Amino acid sequence: MADTQTELSGTSFTPERTIASLRVLRVGQAEQHREHRYGSRMPQLWWVFLGRHWVPLPLQCFLIEHRDGLVLFDTGIDPAILSEEGYINQAIGRFLLPRIFRFHLTERDRIDHVLAGAGVAASDIRMAVISHLHFDHVGGIAQIPQADLLVSEREWAILSEPHPEREWILREHIEIPGANWRQVSFTPTDDPLFDGFEGIHDIAGDGTMILLPTPGHTPGSMSMLIRQDGWDPILLVGDLTYETALLEQGVLPGTGDTEALLASGAKVRRLKERLPGLTIVASHDFSAEEVVSRATRRTPQSTEA
Ligand SMILES: [Zn+2]
Repeated sequence: MADTQTELSGTSFTPERTIASLRVLRVGQAEQHREHRYGSRMPQLWWVFLGRHWVPLPLQCFLIEHRDGLVLFDTGIDPAILSEEGYINQAIGRFLLPRIFRFHLTERDRIDHVLAGAGVAASDIRMAVISHLHFDHVGGIAQIPQADLLVSEREWAILSEPHPEREWILREHIEIPGANWRQVSFTPTDDPLFDGFEGIHDIAGDGTMILLPTPGHTPGSMSMLIRQDGWDPILLVGDLTYETALLEQGVLPGTGDTEALLASGAKVRRLKERLPGLTIVASHDFSAEEVVSRATRRTPQSTEA
């Protein structure tokens, strides 16, 4: 384990290693209702107001050291959501938030501080892939003004629909001056690996980071497939599920579009059948760090058993 860590956190690239490392960054701790995480037959309003069982909700994002530059998958939450009175514009949002989540955040949970703790300057981030526009995934964009911010076209369209804030998409913290938003559209492919998906977006053009539409948590949610010689393939699914095991069992969370969640879950499971060893990683899964370190442990020299 120690050896692997040393190797993965090394800064030297070799041409063979397009991706040198994938790291899970902890960007805060929260709690959510049990019904929110594991699903419930009760309507959402019931568990929001009457639910009494809170479960831990780790907040995480991912740092990819690609040969072309540093890439973030999501940017965490802005701790100002707790300290700044007017962070959420709408009174209804300010009323509901503490009934849906309990946040345990400090200033150190802001992405620039978290990156500094990982030995990386926020100003060195070249790109951030935003899985979806919820406040706990876009909260760090102000700290990386130089970075391209990739979002799906469909997710971006939510900003033009009535009341995105009711879906916890806070325009005032997304459409900020200087933010380099780039909308991603998915290109149909005849690669049988991606059968069932509406299309793909190959970020670097080298097949190492491929975006896939996986709607359900939000209409424009997307996942990222990471492939590097010597590693197990890894699929970062954002909030498509709160835990990989739930997605694998077809258990739905307490929020989102049921039909879309079922369809995306089925596509991801089919992808896993075609890509043996695929490691599925959910942003709020407790085991993210452990499974990522296991998937990236093998070296390019090692052979399949
Ligand atoms: Zn989230």
